Amino acid sequence: ELANRMTERSSDVVKALMKLGVMATITQTIDADTAELIVTEFGHTIKRVTEGDVEIGIEGDTDTEGDLLPRPPVVTIMGHVDHGKTSLLDALRATDVVAGEAGGITQHIGAYQVTMPSGHKITFLDTPGHAAFTEMRARGANVTDIVVLVVAANDSIMPQTIEAINHAKAAGVPIIVAINKIDLPDANPNKVRQDLLQHEIVLEEMGGDTMAVELSAKKKINLDKLEETILLQAEMLNLRANPNRRANGTVVEAKLEQGRGNVATVLVENGTLRVGDIFVAGAESGRVRALLDDRGNSVKQALPGQPVEVLGLQGAPEAGDKINVVEDDARAREIAAYRARKKREQAAASIARRTNSLEQMIAAAKEGEKTTLPVVIKADVHGSVEAIAGSLQKISEDNPDVMVRVLHSGVGGITESDIILAKASNAMIIGFNVRANAQARTLAERDGVNIRYYSIIYNIIDDAKAILSGMLAPNL
Ligand code: GDP
Repeated sequence: ELANRMTERSSDVVKALMKLGVMATITQTIDADTAELIVTEFGHTIKRVTEGDVEIGIEGDTDTEGDLLPRPPVVTIMGHVDHGKTSLLDALRATDVVAGEAGGITQHIGAYQVTMPSGHKITFLDTPGHAAFTEMRARGANVTDIVVLVVAANDSIMPQTIEAINHAKAAGVPIIVAINKIDLPDANPNKVRQDLLQHEIVLEEMGGDTMAVELSAKKKINLDKLEETILLQAEMLNLRANPNRRANGTVVEAKLEQGRGNVATVLVENGTLRVGDIFVAGAESGRVRALLDDRGNSVKQALPGQPVEVLGLQGAPEAGDKINVVEDDARAREIAAYRARKKREQAAASIARRTNSLEQMIAAAKEGEKTTLPVVIKADVHGSVEAIAGSLQKISEDNPDVMVRVLHSGVGGITESDIILAKASNAMIIGFNVRANAQARTLAERDGVNIRYYSIIYNIIDDAKAILSGMLAPNL
């Protein structure tokens, strides 16, 4: 890479390194001082770039109050399998008032936008489920403003409903409850309301602050009411952006397509993205060759909150990657190279992290006011889950400076979803008389998530106390 930047041959650079006594291979990383010596040796000028320098100017320019205009909310739909997430996404999509006039075939691009009769717009990410949501968050992309939690009125709260609640809570994203399937004779919306209480979701009609809408995705009942509720929630969140600046956003989907090359669906977060713009998406650079909306229509620009397909990427970015429009090609290449290097370093660090994730967890926990230990609890029976959560929460009664935060708990083995949640929130996983499945183990190893197995509750409490007081050495 260094040779590349100097437009010198890599073998010459390796030779020069050898002269300095550094026996490096072509792909080896060298430290900054050595690199500086080499660059001088070859007669080039050096510009030292720090962490901040590279990204500054793309995220750094701040908007003033006057620049900001309301933007559409970005919504993710979550809930238990078969409760109607896909049906609701389809039904909501069909409420779009401009669809009729503009025509075009519905394209799946990972997100779509609905315009309401009032002219207001709502953007839906159409990959339902909490795994996708939390995976994005683990990668630093918090694109969702509001979670719509679908609960079938004939089935009420189920395990994945609880998971979804906990994932949304961990992300600090407000929830709107869609009580679905009210057309069914055995629908019991009141039971849903009651059951939600046990998970600390108190609906407005019960004196709380979570909004809920009874609806039927299948019979298209109350879809407008849900949309109005989303807009109401969005208004409270005061979502705004500045359309008059260079765009930045997040990649929500990316693929390589025959005949079209690398295609990414981008959710514009700030600024306006235009055809011809030069950009970096993750560690890839490019120039916008074409923009397509969620109906496959070619558009010239995309505004904040709008999802578009972007053509013109050199390589394939990943979902969750940041995209930024920059002033020129040179800048785009510089940032792309910097991000590529950072990615490699992170990959290397994640291997190292396997051994010290506990230390990091303690360090992260101490940054807060209270020393907090976030945990995910999985156990073989419901009684154990409650007993463990209860005893862990009691720790702060003895010592008010510390607390255990239970992000999620449930009956059953440790799954990938648990690992993703733990990773995103830097939490430890407690397995009580249960194990992690193979996929979860692989993921935990890759991401350096700490899983601990127990069969005696007392030991959990002891360990938690020890971790909280920072006394437990890692890897015990
Ligand atoms: P998902 O797994 O959460 O995406 O659920 P789907 O959208 O695939 O729906 C699961 C099943 O429930 C399908 O057979 C739907 O037709 C049905 N369904 C969805 N919404 C409703 C509804 O409002 N009323 C009734 N009666 N059935 C529904």
